[in-house]
Amino acid sequence: MEAKRHYHIERLSQAVINRIAAGEVVQRPSAALKEMLENSIDAGATRIQVLCQEGGLGVLQIVDDGCGIFKDDLPLLCERFATSKLREFEDLSNVSSFGFRGEALASISHVSRVTVITMRHDAPHAWMSKFAEGKLVAGPSVHAGNPGTSIRVEDMFYNAPVRKSSLGKPIEEYARVLSVVQRYSMCFPHIAFSCRNATDGKWNGSTGSTKADFATQCGSTMLFNIKATFGSSLASHLIRVERKLGTIVSSASTVGGGADATPVTSESHQASLPAISGYISDATLANKKATLILFVNDRLVDSSAIRRCLEQVYASVLTNSQKFFVVLAVNLPAQRVDVNVHPTKHEVMMLDEDVVLRTIADAAREELAKSATAKQLHVGE
Ligand code: ADP
Ligand code: MG
Repeated sequence: MEAKRHYHIERLSQAVINRIAAGEVVQRPSAALKEMLENSIDAGATRIQVLCQEGGLGVLQIVDDGCGIFKDDLPLLCERFATSKLREFEDLSNVSSFGFRGEALASISHVSRVTVITMRHDAPHAWMSKFAEGKLVAGPSVHAGNPGTSIRVEDMFYNAPVRKSSLGKPIEEYARVLSVVQRYSMCFPHIAFSCRNATDGKWNGSTGSTKADFATQCGSTMLFNIKATFGSSLASHLIRVERKLGTIVSSASTVGGGADATPVTSESHQASLPAISGYISDATLANKKATLILFVNDRLVDSSAIRRCLEQVYASVLTNSQKFFVVLAVNLPAQRVDVNVHPTKHEVMMLDEDVVLRTIADAAREELAKSATAKQLHVGE
């Protein structure tokens, strides 16, 4: 084949590098929102409001009541690899925050215009700053505000027309944004979430009159927020599953995990949470599309292995046209999960994956069998 170009090798400019990298983290409004939601949760927020115009492409704004950002940190806020959450490489083996790469806001600022209003709880007022291409371009200037942080992202992909044209209609992009908020509300029911989209395009801030499309209260429950999202008729087909770490510890000793594998011990496990908890659909739910909403150590992730495992379990109880609906939170010691697999952190690597799979399969089989027996007894009464 004829060589197409005979250019010499040259380094890409920093601007090109940054824009390429940004495209990896921020594929669409919902991906940017996921990063910003995680930042708000990392900041200890108890209230998170999401406001969109044009499905997040015109405006994507997130307002939280978290700890706020120090004024002196603002110049670094949108700089790549600048973070308050990680100091040493070794810290990566014990990550308890969502963020640690310092890439999200940098990436967002390379494909949109970002305005941040933030106030620490002990500060007399808020600070407003504007960012573009990773840099502070205005402020920080004194601004009215409430404790917490508001980040407004405008004109997403104004400088990436190909990416912009590859996206769906605003209404489709908004559906994805809404779905991210709803999923996080299931794993973080103690936080009050709300989400709305201004369809008339006239809404211009947090005082907009548009009613929220979705709202949860502080101190809700996972089940309540599943109901708020999918309706009570689906929720009435759900069975609670919960398995303690003990199940994992006893089976962990039977799996060969390589020479350096340390057994999963309860000392290292966060606050003795159940290793697996959530809801699985019963055999009578008429669900058309297999749904797995999965959190591993509070991160919304996907796992084809867990999907396959559930398909196998359900193969014996569902007809061909029925599909499962499962919401699961898997909690493992931070040292047993590698979260640094992908820039979007969409997948994680679980060192004890085989044990986790077995625990999920056993728990699901047991609970499905119990629910079938309960139904039979009920019918026989
Ligand atoms: P990371 O989360 O990996 O550190 P980000 O680019 O997402 O990287 O955020 C950079 C830094 O900005 C964070 O480490 C945090 O200190 C600060 N930050 C971002 N969003 C918020 C927020 N909503 N509240 C408080 N601090 C925030
Ligand atoms: Mg982050």
